[in-house]
Amino acid sequence: MNIVTPNSQFVASTRWTWQQHVKAAIRSAAELRRVLGLPLRVGEELAGERQFETFAPLPFVARMEPGNEADPLLRQVLPTAAEGESVAGFSNDPNAESEVSRAPGVLQKYPGRALLIAAKTCAVNCRYCFRRAYPYESGPTSREDWRPSLDQIATDHSIEEVILSGGEPLINDDTRLEWLVQEISRIPHIRRLRIHSRFPIVIPQRVTEGLLELLSDTRLPTTMVLHTNHAQELGDDVGDALTKLRQVPRLVLLNQSVLLRGINDSVRVLTELSWRLLEFGIVPYYLHQLDRVTGSHHFEVEQARGLALIEQLRNSLPGYAVPRYAVEVPGCSSKQILA
Ligand code: SF4
Repeated sequence: MNIVTPNSQFVASTRWTWQQHVKAAIRSAAELRRVLGLPLRVGEELAGERQFETFAPLPFVARMEPGNEADPLLRQVLPTAAEGESVAGFSNDPNAESEVSRAPGVLQKYPGRALLIAAKTCAVNCRYCFRRAYPYESGPTSREDWRPSLDQIATDHSIEEVILSGGEPLINDDTRLEWLVQEISRIPHIRRLRIHSRFPIVIPQRVTEGLLELLSDTRLPTTMVLHTNHAQELGDDVGDALTKLRQVPRLVLLNQSVLLRGINDSVRVLTELSWRLLEFGIVPYYLHQLDRVTGSHHFEVEQARGLALIEQLRNSLPGYAVPRYAVEVPGCSSKQILA
């Protein structure tokens, strides 16, 4: 099957490998507008693009509505002039991650868990990303670079769970990822693995046989926390990939969303998202209050409104379909659950 533009021009094939999709991703606001048949905005979006490059993979773009400037998927990836505005209370390191760095690429925010920055790039650049200004250049890139990070985790016996985050951990190919997972599983006191990933959502071709095998073979019970904000992201191609992931023994699949103004801040949209996730066997786990990173203020929803939304969801959905509304507060020993 082909992915086509509104003008029926060939753009990509769903048969491409995930690597081909990464290579072919759209890397400018102008190109994104052209592909979706939207008017060009000369220069206006450069303020955002200068800070954080555009990166939109074609399987994700194919789920956008052509000609719709307000499309909820487009708004997540299209740079805007607002990103260039400086707003009080927003910073480059909203979660004070620089203060919890234990070794290059190792963050320890909470007891018993260590987060490993397993990649410097993502399979999509979300405009609201709390790590959009993260100093990835100081993190590991090669197997040798990972050694001090792994040694740090090996010497701290209080750590029982390793979280692969990023950037996007699955941007490592299966061979490299298998090596990393094996190295982690060799550390006797590590009992669990967690993978934070948006890859199966934006490029479902990433769910390869190799990935399924390495997840099946590890001794570590694994939780994959996906990142989806709107039901429109969950096309049938994503459903097929999630069905494959669900066959992996002992793999728990959860979803986290970010509450985003104009994208998912309505009861209808959040309800549809929960039901679509559950249709694919994914538990809607967290709804995050936006991390206040510079360039994202226009996405922020007031907490009072978030609380009201959760209350309305509780009144209409069973408990398992209502995500926990959470906020990250630097210095706290866990996420703060707001509702
Ligand atoms: S996938 Fe996650 S880490 Fe990557 S840009 Fe989006 S929010 Fe940031």
